[in-house]
Amino acid sequence: MPAGKSATPLCDQFGFDSDWRQAQLALIGLIEEPHELVAKLHRQVLVDDVRRHIVDVFFSRLENHQQAMQLLSSFDSVRLKGKQTGYLETFGIRCREVDYFESRARVGVAHARVGVPLGLYLASFGVMQELILGAVAERIADAEERQQIVQVVLRLTTLDIALATEVYHRSRIQDLGRSVKHLELERKILRKQVEEDALTGVSSRTSLLCELDGAIARAGKTGQPLCVIMADLDHFKEVNDSHGHLVGDQVLTEVAARIKAALRAFDLVGRYGGEEFVLLLEDTSPHTAQQIAERIRLRIGSQPIHTGGQNLHITISQGLAVYQDGDDSTALLSRADQAMYRAKQAGRNCIAG
Ligand code: GH3
Ligand code: MG
Ligand code: MG
Repeated sequence: MPAGKSATPLCDQFGFDSDWRQAQLALIGLIEEPHELVAKLHRQVLVDDVRRHIVDVFFSRLENHQQAMQLLSSFDSVRLKGKQTGYLETFGIRCREVDYFESRARVGVAHARVGVPLGLYLASFGVMQELILGAVAERIADAEERQQIVQVVLRLTTLDIALATEVYHRSRIQDLGRSVKHLELERKILRKQVEEDALTGVSSRTSLLCELDGAIARAGKTGQPLCVIMADLDHFKEVNDSHGHLVGDQVLTEVAARIKAALRAFDLVGRYGGEEFVLLLEDTSPHTAQQIAERIRLRIGSQPIHTGGQNLHITISQGLAVYQDGDDSTALLSRADQAMYRAKQAGRNCIAG
């Protein structure tokens, strides 16, 4: 796509539909196409050498403005003068047509993208208007005719200024909208990174501990039972030692998926440490928690995990703790941890309460 062109016409992008354009034109006083006056303006005033003179004076005025100079210095001055000459060449010609709005809108967008301050942009329109009017005063002798042409110049520059301001404003809003979308996406990604364990996709430790605090507060308030299970893979070091860390990682991912599949929708599983998972079972009696733990034990222990071209027999030990009044997360997790160690001592692949 050529630079500066956009797939969707700017008038469509910015909502400059026919009604909007007609309303603008009516307000400004351009109810009909001012063909004759515009033709006279170009024939008698904006002739080649006058145009050149206007453009030269216009740029020499801008040269006195430090910020304008800074902006202009990064562009080719011959090209800029060419553009400004083009602006004068087309000034007012078929101004009621959508293409006129489109070409003016393109200029506005270009200025907004480059970061021309709006005040400077509007002031330079004023300078251009003054220079055109000066040429009109010099070159149109008949007072009545001059009056008419001055009026049409004022209307045309008003139209340009109105369009430039609108476009400038709307393209800034569009850019801000894009930035907001981009930030939202980044926020989502960051949030996911914080809340989700990157390897297994279950809740992260941070998120798990946060949820646990919430669950403890709710259990304390409502008196509903809360169970926590600490689950730790058995002899996992051997898996890594024999098959490598990559296979170990795949085992962890599959174990996490099997735990998740054994849980109810409102249960939560998080990766507490390397090969340790914590399950949060709210509004759940110790009896039901025991059943869930057994389901997990069977899902993991009774079906080998196929990875790295082999079937690995993996088992898991679990410790169950029930919330007691006054527990904080450290106390509750520590009891679940102690129970898990009892399960290890009892021979692994089992559940201790
Ligand atoms: P036990 O039955 O007593 O729990 O024995 P174990 O070997 O599972 O226990 P240990 O704590 O000695 O070893 C845990 C191992 O888990 C050690 C470490 O290499 C491994 N591990 C921890 N995090 C990861 C991980 O993210 N990926 C892989 N592949 N291994 C991990
Ligand atoms: Mg282990
Ligand atoms: Mg461990």
